[in-house]
Amino acid sequence: MACNVNENLDSALESIELENQLARISKTILVMSGKGGVGKSTTAANLAVMMSLSGYTVGLLDIDFHGPSIPKLLGMENKKADMKGEKLIPLVMGDTLKVMSLGLLLQNQDDAVIWRGPMKMGAIQQLLRDVDWGDLDYLIVDCPPGTGDEPLSIVQILKKPTGALIVTQPQDLSVADVKRSVKFCEKLEIPVLGVIENMSGFICPHCNEHIDIFKSGGGKNMAESFKIPFLGKIPLDPEIVTASDEGKPFVYFGKKETADCFQKIIDNMLEVVEMNNKDEQKSENNTTDSEKSVTKFAIPLANNELCMHFGHCEQFAIIDYDENEKKIVNSDLQTPPPHEPGVLPKWLGELGVNTILAGGMGSRAQQLFASNGISVVTGAPVGKAEDLVKAYVGGNMETGINACDH
Ligand code: ADP
Repeated sequence: MACNVNENLDSALESIELENQLARISKTILVMSGKGGVGKSTTAANLAVMMSLSGYTVGLLDIDFHGPSIPKLLGMENKKADMKGEKLIPLVMGDTLKVMSLGLLLQNQDDAVIWRGPMKMGAIQQLLRDVDWGDLDYLIVDCPPGTGDEPLSIVQILKKPTGALIVTQPQDLSVADVKRSVKFCEKLEIPVLGVIENMSGFICPHCNEHIDIFKSGGGKNMAESFKIPFLGKIPLDPEIVTASDEGKPFVYFGKKETADCFQKIIDNMLEVVEMNNKDEQKSENNTTDSEKSVTKFAIPLANNELCMHFGHCEQFAIIDYDENEKKIVNSDLQTPPPHEPGVLPKWLGELGVNTILAGGMGSRAQQLFASNGISVVTGAPVGKAEDLVKAYVGGNMETGINACDH
């Protein structure tokens, strides 16, 4: 039993660490494709390099566990990530690009990884939590092709990624494949930042004329039919293959024309990010003043009065106090899930609670609540929940000592 409690506490603290790390990452972009071989990893690697060259601090996380190609694409094939203390140190390119991939951790890059879904979820959590990413403007995630465990896990972990980029090729078949990625994003409510049509047309090395090899326009048509942005095309360029094989990002070492195409795509993507951001802010601002002025209190109860032993209370009073109307606008009783570390912060967080009035609470538990956006007032006296809320908002609640500081 004690062992169980410790394990639960460890996992609660690990999730705080993960939350803390994620809070330092401003935006996250998933790079996806319907099938393999369309140039998804090449796009992810070059996107990360170009954005870091533009001055952003960028992380590039490769979660394509069965075929991690980022190390090869960036000339890191023979390098390994070091540990410093408890943290893994990502490999750094230039000053502002940090790279992590399972390929940088395996003894041998060709070692096969045979993992089921939950193991992949655990590995992705570790690659976010235990890697010293520091502060990032953008984290770019190279997902494996398709809509399997890895993209699902990363979305669950990140909760709200900034968006997904979908890489496709001009042939109809891959356009059909990519539709699945779009549907996946729709289901999980991830904004699709746009579609990139790769290997689209060919720039003749002799006359620089653009020649369409496959039927052109599939990506654009598909984007229109799904009402998602079309970001642009990257031509089929043999120099990309050579550069990639040598571990050199083509946006830096390749042909200027191709790099320019890519830059345009990034500009378009950043515009979409900016637009989505503005829309989100607008809808946040549209939350009515009354919604904003309501504080949701939770008070642990036993025998209908505040219970001094927080973790062992029978019920919680959940009380909405409206600052504008200066009154309690809703009052409710909720039965908590069975007590174990980490459960109550999550549960009360999901109920939208902002403030807890408690007789006492240990500092670790308070930390857990803080990471769920809930502040804790300790030392509240025994009394009826509504009376305590009224006294607290009126500045009349007499707080004593933290009665249960363990
Ligand atoms: P994926 O991640 O979708 O499996 P990769 O990024 O590994 O695909 O690319 C597959 C192959 O296609 C690589 O050899 C890469 O160098 C090549 N490639 C990618 N994009 C282009 C392009 N625009 N022109 C020519 N070759 C490309």
